[in-house]
Amino acid sequence: MRKNINSEKNLISIELGSQAKGFISFLSEDSSINNVIKDFRYGYFRASSFFKKKIPKVKLTLVYSREEMNNLIGYKTPSWYVGSADSSSKIFMLSPSVFDRESDHSKRDFRKVLCHEICHLFIRQIHNSYEPVWLEEGLAYYVAGQKSRLKNSNPIFNNPKALFLIDTRNRWNKTIGSQPDVPYALAFLLVDFLIRCYSKDRVIKLLMSLEGRYNKKRFCQKFRKVYGKDIKLILKEFFSRQNIKQKGGEKYVSRTQENI
Ligand SMILES: [Zn+2]
Repeated sequence: MRKNINSEKNLISIELGSQAKGFISFLSEDSSINNVIKDFRYGYFRASSFFKKKIPKVKLTLVYSREEMNNLIGYKTPSWYVGSADSSSKIFMLSPSVFDRESDHSKRDFRKVLCHEICHLFIRQIHNSYEPVWLEEGLAYYVAGQKSRLKNSNPIFNNPKALFLIDTRNRWNKTIGSQPDVPYALAFLLVDFLIRCYSKDRVIKLLMSLEGRYNKKRFCQKFRKVYGKDIKLILKEFFSRQNIKQKGGEKYVSRTQENI
């Protein structure tokens, strides 16, 4: 019989400002716990100040092996998969003490990935759906200050319809299957572009305007209402900027949001 590893874990609570508390479930021999507490606070405050919201309770469960992660998530997770957030303010993350061993991330990535997962909880408070996936993932990536590893020479930048390859969960997963680096990087670059050229408030307004199930046509109509322009025109601007950058004609420095 499998041992229930959760029953062996400790639980601590930490203050996250006046109206919020964090909980961490961890193994007592985990020597990284003090850094995890710091990273948890950092990620929570960063996301909270970006979204101008609070979440009263956030629970982080530290996970100690790929097998334990697979059991918690319910399927075989790939080696880049280090954590996830669910709809009830719970986050599962590999402990930094096993990051190098159990994933292809460096443990230096822990802080940003944790902030990314916390962002998903805030985004879900505004828009209780996961689609379009590029908007959710791009925003979490942006707020966490994660950088794009996508080369501008990637053929995706010659495909103006690329965004609609990463909008539904199915299409996102399919694209990840064939081009693993593309979806997150493209999502981040586009959200970065929208925030820099059209403001953060407008992205949040767009998120707030989305209700119900994702539907491409309805999304494009809402986008037009918020941005006053057709999404095709904005995508054209975005892709031509990426292509200029590729040719070295313009300095285009991605903002990594070190000071939100
Ligand atoms: Zn994510």
